Amino acid sequence: MKRRIIACCLAASMVLGLAGCMEEEGYEGYEADYSEEQYESSEETEDEEYYSESETTYSDSEYGYPYDNHLGTAKELEGKIAVVSIFVNDATTGWNFESEADQQLDALIYKDLEIATDYLENVSKSYGKDVEFIYDWEQYPELAVDLDITDIDYREVDSNYNQFYNAGSNSIDQNVQTAKILSDVGADQVIYMMYFNTPETNTITSTTFFCHDSEFTYEICFMFMNCEGYLECPSHFAHEMLHTFGVPDLYTAVDYGITQEYVDYAANSGLNDIMRINDDPETGLYVYDSIPNEVTDITAYYAGLTDYSETVNEWGFAPSQH
Ligand SMILES: [Zn+2]
Repeated sequence: MKRRIIACCLAASMVLGLAGCMEEEGYEGYEADYSEEQYESSEETEDEEYYSESETTYSDSEYGYPYDNHLGTAKELEGKIAVVSIFVNDATTGWNFESEADQQLDALIYKDLEIATDYLENVSKSYGKDVEFIYDWEQYPELAVDLDITDIDYREVDSNYNQFYNAGSNSIDQNVQTAKILSDVGADQVIYMMYFNTPETNTITSTTFFCHDSEFTYEICFMFMNCEGYLECPSHFAHEMLHTFGVPDLYTAVDYGITQEYVDYAANSGLNDIMRINDDPETGLYVYDSIPNEVTDITAYYAGLTDYSETVNEWGFAPSQH
């Protein structure tokens, strides 16, 4: 493995409240020529359409999320949380579990999930919260789903993410029996992990669409399993899963009033927070048998594990959604 400079991801927080607007988090540099103001005004109409569409699509469906959608399908790091694994065949990539390579990648995903959920459970426990992720598709085969979503191309997630999210959520709505799954595993929250069998030439990093105080949203981690020749590691899995509980990135100044000054400060001080880096801070390498990064006070606060963060207080960032 070579040195990985920064494990970045795109995290789009979906704001589908009364205003019908949507926030988007981007890569560093991405927003410089793409201001939020321009973005919001240009997307407003499309978003309103999406919102009204989603009301009819999801209501009264046996496939829909059967509980209160406030804060999305993953709300609090507490209790049982189902993790639905979806192996996606998109326009240009797909899975063939007859092949040894795809079997190995399937095993890696299982291992990534195991380590990431153990990590999140242990961190939660240290804050007095009992949480159990139910991801084991060997015990519950309904937790693994193969889906054809051929009207999307993973390479367009950044340029066309509204359509991307809609295609993903509509496909879940039509093919995943969420209510039955939650009943089977005894959970009332759910995270959807969508795995794309990307080639090593892929340069697009995994991304999570998460609800940030919205009315109604599936929370989906789109995992592009190979990026620049590096396979996804447990730390990045845990990072993306934390987004679904409303946690912001710390390597970019996008959400909760987090400033570039803080982002620079965190980088210069080498803050080893899982929402800032996902490699080993000593070696710069991905680690596959453990997670070398921490949940520091700011991430614990935005994850709802604690009511107070010294960092948030000192820097004056916005309150958490919890
Ligand atoms: Zn992120």
